[in-house]
Amino acid sequence: MKQVTRKKIEAIAAEVRRANSIVITAHVNPDGDAIGSELALYLTLRKLGKQVWVMNTDPLPEIYYFLPAAREVKQVEDFCPVCDLLFVLDCGSAERMGGNQMGHCPRVVNIDHHLEGHTFGDINWVEDKASSTAEMVAELIDGLGVEWDVEIATNIYVGVLTDTGGFRYSNTTPVALALAGRMVSYGVQPEKIARALYERQPLSALKLLARALDSLEVSEDGLVASMTITRRMVAECGVHGWEAENFVNYPRSLDGVEIAILYQEIDDKQVKVSLRSKGTVNVARIAKAFSGGGHFHAAGCRLSGDLLTVKRQVERLVHQMLYVRDEPISRR
Ligand code: 5GP
Ligand code: MN
Repeated sequence: MKQVTRKKIEAIAAEVRRANSIVITAHVNPDGDAIGSELALYLTLRKLGKQVWVMNTDPLPEIYYFLPAAREVKQVEDFCPVCDLLFVLDCGSAERMGGNQMGHCPRVVNIDHHLEGHTFGDINWVEDKASSTAEMVAELIDGLGVEWDVEIATNIYVGVLTDTGGFRYSNTTPVALALAGRMVSYGVQPEKIARALYERQPLSALKLLARALDSLEVSEDGLVASMTITRRMVAECGVHGWEAENFVNYPRSLDGVEIAILYQEIDDKQVKVSLRSKGTVNVARIAKAFSGGGHFHAAGCRLSGDLLTVKRQVERLVHQMLYVRDEPISRR
């Protein structure tokens, strides 16, 4: 372990020792890494005898209900925590927490692995080389000296699994794989988790996928592929509480595609954009240009405007990033 990591963990452990009431939160639209990290830390702090709450501004997607302690997650729209210590996990910036953000918590610990690595906490532990926030939380759990069990391990495993795209993306490091192996040694069953996460889609979600695939657009040179989900499609397919982010993997899966984009119409004025890169283009830079963020190969943002306007804006920037002197970056 790096010296600086050890120092961070020691400092966080000291904060935990001093605190009685602790709130854990993560980013809006929480994903597997955000939720797995929250619940693993929740169970750990409970073992230390702390009063702990997990609070998010957005609901828990149903697909994660199977996670140990999932029912403890509270949805609080006017998020304004009052506690001794606030943990903010997997959250590139304070704004991404939603609500009133830091509320009334004298101490804030920020643990994250995003590129932008904002420093809004009293302690900021940001490692953009970490596969996932769950990987960092696992190191913290070791540092706190709490005994591992299958419940904590399941949450960590799901965080690493989902953020590496099922151990397929470039963040599938030796550390990530070794950690997953260790979680399996604590009783996690990969086959059971895979079934729970990837083989329980509602029929409405597959119908939406069919509609979304129909919207597939590919640039003439085959380097950029995008899909669009309108509110109308969602309503007509009867989809509720389902996260469609993974749909971006379909344009991404096309041979030769460098950048995949998913546009999701949120309302009249807002479009959520998911960006994926398979190669040399840093999509976090594109997302950041629209006040979003993320990682080199996976990023996102929300834009104001109707679908057509947003698409034009994003495509213009993607084009700029992809081509240098009329040569696609990937072919240089
Ligand atoms: P997804 O496309 O799966 O929603 O997000 C991919 C990555 O980009 C995640 O790491 C996520 O945290 C980040 N991301 C997605 N949307 C936003 C956004 O609106 N703002 C910021 N800062 N990051 C985002
Ligand atoms: Mn993450």
